[in-house]
Amino acid sequence: MEIFDTHFHLDPEDDFSSFLQRSYDDLRLACSDYREVPSKLLMLCAGGSYAGSLRAMEFADYAEEVWFSCGVHPHDAAEYHLDRRDFSIFKDHRKLLAIGEIGLDYFYGFSDRDTQLSVLQEFLDMALDWDKPAMLHLRDKDNCRQAYDDALALLSGFSNAGGRFVIHCYAGNQDDARKFLDMGGYFGVTGMYTFKAAHNIRETISIIPDDRLLIETDSPYLAPVPYRGRNNTPGMVALVAASLGASRQLPPEASTALFTANGKRFYRIKE
Ligand SMILES: [Zn+2]
Repeated sequence: MEIFDTHFHLDPEDDFSSFLQRSYDDLRLACSDYREVPSKLLMLCAGGSYAGSLRAMEFADYAEEVWFSCGVHPHDAAEYHLDRRDFSIFKDHRKLLAIGEIGLDYFYGFSDRDTQLSVLQEFLDMALDWDKPAMLHLRDKDNCRQAYDDALALLSGFSNAGGRFVIHCYAGNQDDARKFLDMGGYFGVTGMYTFKAAHNIRETISIIPDDRLLIETDSPYLAPVPYRGRNNTPGMVALVAASLGASRQLPPEASTALFTANGKRFYRIKE
């Protein structure tokens, strides 16, 4: 059995070999309710800057079970705007699965809205051009929906042109979820799904069909319950699969098989 964490980040100081070791240790820990621990942990290392994408690519070169994505996170949009780097070196890499992490973050607003929009559009164009799905991050200021409105507008053009996308760590509302579903969108579920207070996320995710959900950790952030607050690794994705499965009357093994197959289909992993 294999399990697929479709979104995580490396810390700059992580050493590849010990990172893999910690991830597999966590996988065993996270599978206490499984009858069988998955023997293989597939991982998609998300780039969020030029340097981060390079490192994600190095990790994918190092480990057979690691793939990667390249992109500019909205936090880094302003820096990228000033110091444009050439992402074409990633284009033909056999382990490049997606363009991301890209998106809009008006909560922190580290880059102004116009800059975020133009960088996002540029990378969505790249995703179309390179025939890769886009992996998005969306966050609004409290009580505001500008980021979702802007994303709906950009993604409608993108999906009409044949683009495929996932909104990672989906925390939007049900109405928007329906609109993204109509555009063919997928939704990423993280350890946040297991947090006691995250009723709204569980409610929203409940309307998403099984075949549009991907499991992820967003590690090193968002360690699932009962390890909340701890440093997170891709192995903890087993707890996300178990929790999401439980809400759909699926035992952990069946849930793991379902959401791993979704990830492999969406990212077109053949083996
Ligand atoms: Zn992320």
